[in-house]
Amino acid sequence: MGTRKGAQVLRTVPGDRMWLLSAAMTEAQLQGLRVEIDAINGQLLDLMNRRLRLVERVKDVKERTGAKLFSPRRESEMFTKLLLQNEGPMTADLVRAVFKEIFKLSLDHMEADTRRRLQVHRLDGEPDKVYEIRGHKMGGGVPQLISGPCAVESADQVEAVAAHLESLGVGFLRGGAFKPRTSPYSFQGLGVEGLKILRAAADRHGMAVVTEILDPRNFEDSERYSDVFQVGARNMYNYELLRLLGQSDKPVLLKRGFMATLEEFILAAEYIAKEGNGQIILCERGIRTHEKWTRNTLDLSAVPLLKAETPFPVVVDVGHGTGRKDIMAAMAKAALAAGADAIMVETHPAPALALSDNAQQMTLDEISAFHGDVFGRA
Ligand code: PEP
Ligand code: MN
Repeated sequence: MGTRKGAQVLRTVPGDRMWLLSAAMTEAQLQGLRVEIDAINGQLLDLMNRRLRLVERVKDVKERTGAKLFSPRRESEMFTKLLLQNEGPMTADLVRAVFKEIFKLSLDHMEADTRRRLQVHRLDGEPDKVYEIRGHKMGGGVPQLISGPCAVESADQVEAVAAHLESLGVGFLRGGAFKPRTSPYSFQGLGVEGLKILRAAADRHGMAVVTEILDPRNFEDSERYSDVFQVGARNMYNYELLRLLGQSDKPVLLKRGFMATLEEFILAAEYIAKEGNGQIILCERGIRTHEKWTRNTLDLSAVPLLKAETPFPVVVDVGHGTGRKDIMAAMAKAALAAGADAIMVETHPAPALALSDNAQQMTLDEISAFHGDVFGRA
């Protein structure tokens, strides 16, 4: 009836008014359809939320039984059922695409929940961590330089470097007393004697000592003579060492493993945090790729990602990360621009004579120029 009446009215009105009337009717019709679509959107939203709540329950059960969160078999079963149920007009491909997104969303939801529970994860609104180490701040906006020789070779060598670094205002003295060398026949470091040399030089020059610990048996000596434990790239997966350092109250500078993903890196830090030591410093030092022009491939995307995921200071080791002095300043500036809290680079009074990493250690003049260039403080 309504339509016929409408048609009669239309026949009696002239051209442009008729167009206006039919436009008004189209608009009313569209309004009606939109109300229905809004209602369906609401139902879909409600259904999706109900689905996610069920997913959370599935996750609880799975976690209790140790089952994996993602089950390809279950996903394929769900696709089969959906395709049998589908009466169109959605095509099978569209059903697959839409539900793939929904399944992925559920998995992300389960995993995000797990990630949120990591102690190293930055809580909403949590500020950056700042450590005060021997009067020098690590984190919190003042970029620092950690420098010193690759390996401690003698008291004179460390003294020359420390005195020079102090004159530049550098607060962190690095140096390996225990050296993780690729070949067991290469120089392995001076051991505890090296720790003592570092401590004495740092004390003379008001610096903090950052040095690598390789073996849990050296824990007491390392704790006694150093201010920051360094865990090298080779030991990022040494979970026993990480657990042990988690029991110390000294900060731990954890280097990223050669082949480690950022997820694995953060989980390694969790081993330290879980034992109660929340004073962690993360260090990107390059990863192994097919590239041969640099010693490693410095992954600067790690900097903002690690800063977003965790509250810890992030250090970029441009020395081991590139192995090339000609690009270290450029990479250090890029690292600071990306949000790094500190740069690490090696300095030796006579790099050509060094017992390790000759090519990448800076001379005293080179570190002065690097410092002026990168930090704007000559
Ligand atoms: C070092 O910093 O002395 C060192 C050995 O570095 P990495 O563990 O990153 O190789
Ligand atoms: Mn080195």
